Amino acid sequence: MWRLAKRLPSFNVRFGSSVGTSAHARPYRWRVTIIFGRGVDRAKVEETVLHELCHFAAPHETTSDGREAHHGDAFNWLLLDVAKRLWGTEFDVGPGVARGGYGPSRWLLKRRRKMLGTTTADDKLAARLL
Ligand SMILES: [Zn+2]
Repeated sequence: MWRLAKRLPSFNVRFGSSVGTSAHARPYRWRVTIIFGRGVDRAKVEETVLHELCHFAAPHETTSDGREAHHGDAFNWLLLDVAKRLWGTEFDVGPGVARGGYGPSRWLLKRRRKMLGTTTADDKLAARLL
């Protein structure tokens, strides 16, 4: 048995009228805020929630100049590992995919959409999931 967080954080989830999703985890406050924009689909909801939950379990990382690295290699490896556990070996990746930044999140989203066969936006489905 494994966990992403010691306890479930509170989620503040809304749907906005603009395009794009804004999400922010605050592990020190056990809180996640997500605003899904127009055109969100099931894969985006799943990837976003998974991504934010990983912020509660990822080890603290810093950049070479000492700043906090929210999407460092350790975070991205954790995200990819959890996705594989949830969604299967289709999410098995080789070295290089988990480099820092948002690349792994974009890769997961694309792969999850392909797996679900959802290439078009589906706001109603996303709303049912929340
Ligand atoms: Zn993040």
